[in-house]
Amino acid sequence: MTCDALVIGGGIAGASVAYALTRKHWRVTVIDAGMHTASHVPSALVNPVRGQSGGVDARAPEGMALTWALVRDLAAQGYAVPHARSGVVRPLPDDRTRARFERNLPETLPHHWLDHNQRPKALAGHWPHALQLPGGGWLDGQALCRALLKASGASLVKARATAWDAQTVTLHDGTLLKAQAVVWCGGSVGSTWAGEDATHRMGTLLTLERAASKVPLSFGAYLAPAAQGGVLGATFEAPAKHWVPPQLPLNSLSWLLGKGAALSNLETLSVTGRWTGSRLSGLQAGKDAHGVWRLSGLSSKGFLLGPLLAFELAAQVRAAPPLRGG
Ligand SMILES: Cc1cc2nc3c(=O)[nH]c(=O)nc-3n(C[C@H](O)[C@H](O)[C@H](O)COP(=O)(O)OP(=O)(O)OC[C@H]3O[C@@H](n4cnc5c(N)ncnc54)[C@H](O)[C@@H]3O)c2cc1C
Repeated sequence: MTCDALVIGGGIAGASVAYALTRKHWRVTVIDAGMHTASHVPSALVNPVRGQSGGVDARAPEGMALTWALVRDLAAQGYAVPHARSGVVRPLPDDRTRARFERNLPETLPHHWLDHNQRPKALAGHWPHALQLPGGGWLDGQALCRALLKASGASLVKARATAWDAQTVTLHDGTLLKAQAVVWCGGSVGSTWAGEDATHRMGTLLTLERAASKVPLSFGAYLAPAAQGGVLGATFEAPAKHWVPPQLPLNSLSWLLGKGAALSNLETLSVTGRWTGSRLSGLQAGKDAHGVWRLSGLSSKGFLLGPLLAFELAAQVRAAPPLRGG
């Protein structure tokens, strides 16, 4: 039997769910407002060792493997996603931070501590330690979402959904869509549109005329290659209860430039543009009390865990019982 699903949101969560469901022979329609998609980050790290705490999600190796496998499968189907599985280098400022990272690193996660002569030339010389994570890398978030949506064969509806339940979605113009399952993947902006209180964090990437380093460098902020040139970025604004329109206060810009300059010499690089987005914390993956399936709150791990969690959710999605009288 072929089932129909409506997926709200076409970021990495929704696009991956659509791709996974169509692999299970579901007919999928993706409804996306086409606005404020955090997943359109010009260059996202696939980085298993997080932030300045060095925390490693137990599912990071599995998630990373699935993301790269997807990129490879899409390329085999003719959908190129700019990326490089180049590894990621995490320079660390002191012995205490190294000790913390070492405590968190599982033996199963390939990693090397680099001597000074093994480090990327672009990395500034003052860092006492540098951890290399050979399984990581960077990818173009927008290109990956676009490729997943196209390869899924899902129908796309560019509209904002204003109401939904286990089997219907109402669009802002009053159109009612019906299906056997509804999956909500609305991300940061969608959570606020839905009237939820949650934790949102805004960040900015400056796009650069060329990459400062071929291998992504990350501590505080990250420098990475992109499809064109490179980026300097971070998610650094104070957490907020709601999504707010993109902004880049001058003191944030100055903070970002300082973090970038600590990683590498940026003096000869020019900025070509700016991308600002907001991410949602508080992972939710499963069915809610109203029978609507949901994948959201991917936080800073959208490309590390998003596809893995989407495939797992798609494996659970079942047709809702028929509506009474329907
Ligand atoms: C500055 C920054 C840097 C980041 N860097 C990284 C990184 O290096 N590595 C990494 O793994 N992650 C990174 N992230 C996090 C990552 O981008 C997010 O975790 C991920 O993109 C969230 O994906 P999503 O699909 O849940 O939401 P989104 O990508 O935000 O997609 C939600 C979509 O749903 C649509 N939508 C919402 N509500 C509705 C509605 N009612 N009707 C119709 N459409 C709707 C929106 O328009 C949007 O297109 C970064 C985030 C930011 C902000």
